[in-house]
Amino acid sequence: MGNSSLVTCTRISPNRTSPRNHKIDTITIHCTAGQCTAQQLLNMSHITTYSPTNGASCHYVVGKDGSIGLCVPETDRSWCSSSSSNDHRAITIEVSSDATHPYAVTDAAYSALIDLLVDICQRNHIPELKWKGDKNLIGQTDQQNMTVHRWFAAKACPGDWLYQRHGQIATEVNQRLKGEVDMTKEEVKALVLEVLAEVEASRAAKPASDWAVQSQVCSRAAQAGFTDGTRPRSYVTREEVNTMLLAVLEQVT
Ligand SMILES: [Zn+2]
Repeated sequence: MGNSSLVTCTRISPNRTSPRNHKIDTITIHCTAGQCTAQQLLNMSHITTYSPTNGASCHYVVGKDGSIGLCVPETDRSWCSSSSSNDHRAITIEVSSDATHPYAVTDAAYSALIDLLVDICQRNHIPELKWKGDKNLIGQTDQQNMTVHRWFAAKACPGDWLYQRHGQIATEVNQRLKGEVDMTKEEVKALVLEVLAEVEASRAAKPASDWAVQSQVCSRAAQAGFTDGTRPRSYVTREEVNTMLLAVLEQVT
């Protein structure tokens, strides 16, 4: 339990019900329809001003820069999804998005969202995210434990961009929960460059700095994780690490 240690700012909203009446078993991702940082989202008046009729809140906000803010403690119910029963069992997350259709989110926000979801699932013993895009499965968390605002109110939320990626989001989170990926791109890059430095040090005939090799590794690391050709992940899979290391071998042998 507790709250995520990934938060970079906190401003608790008075718009909440304490405590929640159901254990956490559902995730509801929303979009903000306007690009903001986490702190800017936490400071919005409809969140900071108590109002049983017009007030709103969520558990976490994710900013356009990847910042993460805490708005409602996980022990409490947020006022977020136009459904009391959903919000009593869900962790709700507002993700900074464009103001217009399809309400796209930045690379930084997407990566931070994945990191946050992994953390939420680990602490709340949610073994995997399940998404079928089926409104009829609301509350049947053994089959589907992600819900969307548009099922509970006449809204576009979470926007088509995030809605269409719910399956991909579940897949990426589940890979990390199962330990199928355990290195960030930065960690891989640092490791590879460390190995290269040793290789170069042991080869007197070779220049001290082999920029061709380094740029090859860096570009491989940068490309890794673009699952649909446009969106990066913050980590790489074992397969991608293998590809990067083979590229290095080609260069140094
Ligand atoms: Zn919403």
